[in-house]
Amino acid sequence: MVRRFYIAPDQLDPVEQSVTSGPVLTGSDANHIKNVLRLQTGDPVVLFDGGGREYDARIAAIDSAGVRVEILGERRSETESPVAITIAQGFLKDKKMDDLVRGLTELGMTRFIPFLAQRSVARPDPKRLRTRAERWEKIALESLKQCRRSRVPEIGATVSFSEMVDLGRETDLKVLFWEEEAGTGTSPLTKIREDRYRTVFAALGPEGGFTESEAASAREAGFIVAPLGPRILRAETAAIAACTLLQHLYGDMG
Ligand code: SAH
Repeated sequence: MVRRFYIAPDQLDPVEQSVTSGPVLTGSDANHIKNVLRLQTGDPVVLFDGGGREYDARIAAIDSAGVRVEILGERRSETESPVAITIAQGFLKDKKMDDLVRGLTELGMTRFIPFLAQRSVARPDPKRLRTRAERWEKIALESLKQCRRSRVPEIGATVSFSEMVDLGRETDLKVLFWEEEAGTGTSPLTKIREDRYRTVFAALGPEGGFTESEAASAREAGFIVAPLGPRILRAETAAIAACTLLQHLYGDMG
């Protein structure tokens, strides 16, 4: 399997590249290539820029400065979903958000929006939110190597519940997943399945769930309130299940 490496977009412009002037992989990627994978000059690699561009390349030189690569051609990424999925997630405790970002990136999420809800248990330190977001960006970028995506999901700033609802405004389909909506009938999502959506926005609650009034105000803003079966899922399970379901209904897991 050809290995994939992230390369900053500015290293790829201008695209005029040659053996002596191609982009250089440094740091842990260079170490990995030299000491773990033991790749050699001439070996193929794939580069991605996090913005959706992907390149076939080969190693042109390996030295103490890093690993210089030669770009052979741009390729079309075939791993992006036809539907752009935003997951708005009620802020969870501890490292749960880290795991979610990783899992949801693998499932093809395009945007992640953390928000604080009435029953949020986690009370993140506002001063640290920025660092947390940077960490999630790093995690997402890291998982692109493994899942073969080339576009990194956008990580939004942490917002309030009403700001989150507002951010859904521009999307074709908005869903709030609420266990109280459960029941055994056909899911409201299946009923509207004929429609083709380009953008889907899903809101999932924190450990404490959504309140009645939050569900009502989302509904008022045009959200469909939908169940994920009759069982109560842990928040971190629910988000993964929701993303999978949306990819199945409207994306590329059908
Ligand atoms: N506190 C609630 C459960 C919250 S689960 C309780 O104990 O009853 C956290 C989030 O996961 C919920 O806010 C909801 O968005 C989602 N979720 C979990 N199970 C679900 C289900 N069966 N249907 C829809 N959403 C669900």
